[in-house]
Amino acid sequence: MTRDLSTRILHADRAAGIEHGATHKPLHIATGYGYERAEDLVSVFQGDKSGYVYGRQGNPTTAALEAKVTLMEEAVGTVSFASGMAAIISTMVALLKKGDHVVASRFLFGNTASWFNTLSQMGCEVTLVDATEAKNVEAALRPETRMVFVETIANPRTQVADLAGIGKVCQARGIVYIVDNTLTTPQLFRPKSVGASLVIHSLSKGICGHGNALGGSVSDTGLFDWDQYVNLYPNYRKGPPTAWGLLQIRKKGLRDLGGTLSSEHGHRIAAGAETLGLRMERTNANALALARFLEQQPLVRKVHYPGLASHAQHARASELFSGFGGLLSFETVDGVSPVALLNELQLVIKSSHLGDNRTLALPAALTIFWEMGQEMRQSMDIAESLVRVSLGIEATQDLLDDFAQALAKLNK
Ligand SMILES: *Cc1c(COP(=O)(O)O)cnc(C)c1O
Repeated sequence: MTRDLSTRILHADRAAGIEHGATHKPLHIATGYGYERAEDLVSVFQGDKSGYVYGRQGNPTTAALEAKVTLMEEAVGTVSFASGMAAIISTMVALLKKGDHVVASRFLFGNTASWFNTLSQMGCEVTLVDATEAKNVEAALRPETRMVFVETIANPRTQVADLAGIGKVCQARGIVYIVDNTLTTPQLFRPKSVGASLVIHSLSKGICGHGNALGGSVSDTGLFDWDQYVNLYPNYRKGPPTAWGLLQIRKKGLRDLGGTLSSEHGHRIAAGAETLGLRMERTNANALALARFLEQQPLVRKVHYPGLASHAQHARASELFSGFGGLLSFETVDGVSPVALLNELQLVIKSSHLGDNRTLALPAALTIFWEMGQEMRQSMDIAESLVRVSLGIEATQDLLDDFAQALAKLNK
């Protein structure tokens, strides 16, 4: 019997047995771990025995969160990090070498795009393609291509990558396929179902949900054959091959780079994850209602939301996802400044961040996509007037009323 995802998340901690019968995993704050016998310390260090050695490589609290993410993604294992960016960068530094080639979607979270720019200065070539069609990814592949990276729903323009098509291409060519599942969350979509090798999350967003902790993760779906991966160090060929990639990420990525998730934040994220299902239901309904409302407004030129029939990948999103997410973006008509519009909102918070219980909005081109310049924004289809809205769990009518009164003021 397969139980509902929320049910399984709620009872996940108890699967491993908890100190004193606590109903969820307590906060472990020790930096170091001591052993009665030196032989045990040696065994744990050498990987022959499971255990903890030093807090930079994790602790029982973050391990419990990792187990929860593994469960959510139906993966074979997970490594957690201090943020989504730490997860992305540590994974790539751990798996890539000079001269390698990476193909990525050109519709990306701004800091991920900035990281690819850095990576290309460090001896790895990066080709950015329109990943809404798998043939563009396929055409960019080279013999030295080691990985393909895409987001499920791109932040902020909501393009939906050809997730299944790219999965087939990567599988046929033996290339690591990394999917950033932040905007969909495992509640709506499991990248494993389209052949992803690794699944990335910014746990700071929908999985935490309360805007009170930063975290990131990478999970291995078990589908990639690490025995075939040319950059795998002999030291990490230990145990079943499905574990090799993640072991190298934990050592070369987490241990050496040190972007470790704190137990306090891990604990808050784990508590947030318990209500993921409930929150996604409300935020997705709010997003659809607001998208439909904005589509009717004369001051709004275009609304981008995968749940709208007008969205270019609406059919794909309907087929792959069990909901359309809590994020939308829209462009105002010429002469209507997104800044002026946002200033009229009384309830919605002018803020970056997304996947929060509160509804947040920002002028995307002027803030999170400012540093990259207009040319790059154009290549990512980000209009200068684009407003990004991350829907919270407020009552739908309160949100519609807020946008209605703001638009009415500008229409005067
Ligand atoms: C926010 C975000 C990230 C980065 O995560 P942080 O936790 O903020 O470092 C990566 N990918 C996507 C899609 C995001 O929205």
